[in-house]
Amino acid sequence: MDVTHILREVYWHSLDGIVVADKDTVILDVNPAYEAVTGYSRDELIGQKTNIVRSGLTPPEVFRDMWTQLGRRGKWVGEVINRHKNGNLWYSFLSITRIVDEGGSVVAYVGIARDITQRKALEQQLRQNLVEIQSARELAQAQATRLRALLDSVGEAIIMFDTLGICVVANHQVGGMLGLPAEQILGKSVHELHALALQALGVRAFEWQPGPDGGPPIELETNVIETREERPRVFHEFAAPVPDPGGRVIGRIYVYRDITKETELDRMKTEFIATVSHELRTPMTSIKGSLGLVLGGVAGELPEEARELLTIARNNTDRLIRLINDILDISRIEAGKMEIRRVPLNAAEAVRRAVQEMQAFARQRSITLKTDLPDGLPRVMADGDRVHQVLDNLLSNAIKFSPQGSEVLIRAVPAGDMVRFDVIDHGPGIPADQQTAIFDRFYRVDNAAARKTGGTGLGLTICRAIVEEHGGQIWVESTVGEGSTFSFTLPAEPSGPSQSVPLHVSSRTVLVVDDDPDIVRLIMLSLEREGFHAVGATSGEQALEIARSRHVDVITLDLRMPGADGTHVLRQLKQDPATRDIPVVVVSAYSAGKEMELVATGVSGIVSKPIDDNELLSTIRSVLGTWRGERPQPSILVVDDDPDVRRIITVMLEQAGYAVRTAHDGQEAFRMIMAERPDLLILDLMMPNLDGFQLVRLLRQRRWTQQIPLLVLTALDLTEGEKTLLQLGPTCHVTKGPLIQEEIVARVRELLDSH
Ligand code: ADP
Repeated sequence: MDVTHILREVYWHSLDGIVVADKDTVILDVNPAYEAVTGYSRDELIGQKTNIVRSGLTPPEVFRDMWTQLGRRGKWVGEVINRHKNGNLWYSFLSITRIVDEGGSVVAYVGIARDITQRKALEQQLRQNLVEIQSARELAQAQATRLRALLDSVGEAIIMFDTLGICVVANHQVGGMLGLPAEQILGKSVHELHALALQALGVRAFEWQPGPDGGPPIELETNVIETREERPRVFHEFAAPVPDPGGRVIGRIYVYRDITKETELDRMKTEFIATVSHELRTPMTSIKGSLGLVLGGVAGELPEEARELLTIARNNTDRLIRLINDILDISRIEAGKMEIRRVPLNAAEAVRRAVQEMQAFARQRSITLKTDLPDGLPRVMADGDRVHQVLDNLLSNAIKFSPQGSEVLIRAVPAGDMVRFDVIDHGPGIPADQQTAIFDRFYRVDNAAARKTGGTGLGLTICRAIVEEHGGQIWVESTVGEGSTFSFTLPAEPSGPSQSVPLHVSSRTVLVVDDDPDIVRLIMLSLEREGFHAVGATSGEQALEIARSRHVDVITLDLRMPGADGTHVLRQLKQDPATRDIPVVVVSAYSAGKEMELVATGVSGIVSKPIDDNELLSTIRSVLGTWRGERPQPSILVVDDDPDVRRIITVMLEQAGYAVRTAHDGQEAFRMIMAERPDLLILDLMMPNLDGFQLVRLLRQRRWTQQIPLLVLTALDLTEGEKTLLQLGPTCHVTKGPLIQEEIVARVRELLDSH
């Protein structure tokens, strides 16, 4: 085929517009693409100058350059702005070639034009976008810098992991905590950081656990972190999942506030108050004692005036002692150190005792105390001394504020699974807007009645702390001018579990021997309050008979009795094979100086009169422990959110001679363990606030809690993986079912023995 023909085809079908002009730029021919791109027809173009398509907007230097290049090299390539026949502008990518004859004279110019308007628009858009991106980046950078500065200027150490466990935020303080620059922490995985922290601190202080769901929120008041520094630092730790604005979890944040100094100050303050109060209490006791003796007549009959003055002194001493006790209580409550021993307590008996003790005060003010105590009132799970303190406070307030000759009623009624106590008076009442505030520290209603009666405004605060610590509530209902009813609730002893759970627990039996029936009754009462079974004897003969005829675990024995006296009874008991193994605790006013002699006759413990309840109880408990050859008594912490389970396990273990403390969730348990390390931990897993897994994790991080023997008591079927997470010292996992005493005690013994 003919090449000319081919070239013609190319010319004819080219997508780029082609224009051929003579040496004077008069158009000789155009191809169809040129017609299309310019909007002019071939006929309209031929004979016209090429500048017919110009827009006048192309900078003149472009044309200057064009002619220079064409003159020099016969070629030019560039961009020009043209105008379409319809008036629209279009960008042309134009290349022009000069055609010359053999003699070198110009015969034609061939221009090839391509419409690049669209490309130009895109380029323009792109440039615009770039500018916007640049400024957005600058803005983001400025914001990040601000945020960074902000993060670094707060006192807290803040670290955040994304859901894959990569550290995405770490401020300066985190760096300080780990001894690394913060930049080196960013981008590291949680595993790498655990290793770094371990290296930096020498202990596994952190347990960061980011996960796809961000994990549960946790707030720990104190997280003691041992550092390489001299002393451990104490942090308030907060952890929570972080949601994006749409609510999708994007990671987990941990915030640590160093409260080492505050804790130390707090400790010093509490210690100071405690020391000062103790120091005040000692001399107060001897002042009160001396005044009592003088008023009682040791120094002979007193002249009336002296008696009056000394009575004033004694009353004020009592007031001072009460005040000191209140302050001590408040400082204990504030330090979270109020110890509560929950045991089944006869509510009616507690009310009767409080009323009896207030009787003298009421009589002084001509006030009648009445009680309304229905039969069959359930027992409450409470600390007898603390309940007494609450009743005492409410009663003395009621008496204090009642008009002379009026009546104060104390009532106890069952209320669901609680027992409610009401103290009702006909005093001045309390205005509605102050009925909450009176439970605050040092708050006293500003009226004549309160001014007239002395007081500190601490009593109700202490009552509220005690009642709430028991899981109850306290409130007042009152009408000004008519009177007030102060009410509080305490949890009733659960009745269900003793039937549904096969408990093989029989209470320890204590035989109480004293010739004074009142003392026998008193000791029996306080023993029963603590869950013992008590039997009384008011003579040596009766005591021997009981000890021989029935099972007795321990005997408390008065020495000086008419008839068969204590020493005689003791000898008889020790001679008889049936009774010689029963431990005997001597309770006597006359034991001083005779200890060696008594111990030689086989006495296991000595408590002197006047009897201190606590001393007696702890002696009996430790004697029972010795007798079983289990001294010193190991202490066990039972953590379970179910009060029935706590109660049952406590009884089982106390029967077996262990000292038991309880906590109702992981958070409380953690605090208690930090305050005093138990010898063994019995742990439920599903609990509010901090569950068993989280608690074990925290304990594993700390050197002094890593090795605590652990008995996991759970209703869950644990996987092997979970079991390995739930390990401290020697550990065993028991599935909850019927709680069999033998099994629990056997496991506890194994764990303690293997430790
Ligand atoms: P105190 O009695 O030492 O002032 P409390 O904390 O026991 O401290 O009581 C706080 C305040 O509550 C009292 O000062 C009094 O104003 C008011 N209050 C308490 N009990 C009664 C009552 N039974 N009748 C009227 N006001 C009372």
